[in-house]
Amino acid sequence: MWQDNLIKIEPYVAGEQPKKTDFIKLNANENPYPPSPKAAAAIRDFNAETLKKYPSSNAVPLVNAIAEREGLLPENVFAGNGTDDVLSLCFRAFFNSDKPIIFPDITYSFNTVWCDILNIPYETVPVDDNFNINPADYARPNGGVVIANPNAPTSIGRGLDFIREIVRNNRESVVIIDEAYVDFGGTTAVPLLREFDNLVITRTFSKSRSMAGMRLGWAMGSKEAVAAIYAAKDSMNSYPVDSIAQAAGVAAIKDEEYFQATLKKVIATRERLAAELRGMGFALPDSQTNFLFATHPKFSAKEIFEYLKMRDIYVRWFNKPKIDNYLRITIGTDEETNALISALSEFVKR
Ligand SMILES: *Cc1c(COP(=O)(O)O)cnc(C)c1O
Repeated sequence: MWQDNLIKIEPYVAGEQPKKTDFIKLNANENPYPPSPKAAAAIRDFNAETLKKYPSSNAVPLVNAIAEREGLLPENVFAGNGTDDVLSLCFRAFFNSDKPIIFPDITYSFNTVWCDILNIPYETVPVDDNFNINPADYARPNGGVVIANPNAPTSIGRGLDFIREIVRNNRESVVIIDEAYVDFGGTTAVPLLREFDNLVITRTFSKSRSMAGMRLGWAMGSKEAVAAIYAAKDSMNSYPVDSIAQAAGVAAIKDEEYFQATLKKVIATRERLAAELRGMGFALPDSQTNFLFATHPKFSAKEIFEYLKMRDIYVRWFNKPKIDNYLRITIGTDEETNALISALSEFVKR
């Protein structure tokens, strides 16, 4: 039967996108603030006439702007249509060994989706009871390593020594550090690029730069590693970053002041919400991201999730082993956070 030949894969499930508009959406780690006004101006002033031409296929202006900001050369940067696109190209470019690639059992769930679709063997490595990743667990034969730092959905970030230990133990394979959340207080591995040519770091515009709808992300690595990502892209997809996204991306990268101001607001709200949640009896690790990962000793996460949904507040609950009693709560505006706090404080008093 032809159905036997259909793709057999468990797709990634994103946070719910309810049809109604009057609700508080804290379930996809989106930024509650708008993108840089300079990015908005770049879109508004974009000359539509230029759309008759194909975009710069290697996103040269965007790559140059990113390289300048990160203190790298353009040959060390690859830009793509969101980190998910960049990661998929990295998986194809780097993970061609017969040995399994390894990543934590609790981490970004796209890893397993890419491995399944690309037929890459993988093994997951358990995090400890406090959701910490033990770098010593990654000193074993593998075809590649993927670590999100700070990690999702745990919100825990680690320092340079942690990354250095993992990369030092893995000189025979590529180590990808996914820094989707690093701007919210994490430690970037960029300084280690000078020490290790098998380290590749990915970033996104979706979280800290408030541009999830635009689909922009990038990778940084040695010239040789980045050339392999270009080779993967040029051999299997012809989807460069479109011209409008490139223009908006350049403007966003150059607006450091707005970027820092937005981060400061999100971090201040995060710390306020963390304190309020602890006051209500929730337990949560210190977050270096734009979300909190919280559990309550008296109430099940599912019950709280459903109660909040009834109150039109959407947070993320994962029905998965080890984390099914936790909620992942994205940091919203102060107003949204106040609504969340008052709903939860009513709930815990019942
Ligand atoms: C959101 C997220 C991404 C994907 O970002 P996009 O650029 O929107 O594709 C990658 N990794 C982690 C850990 C994320 O949370």
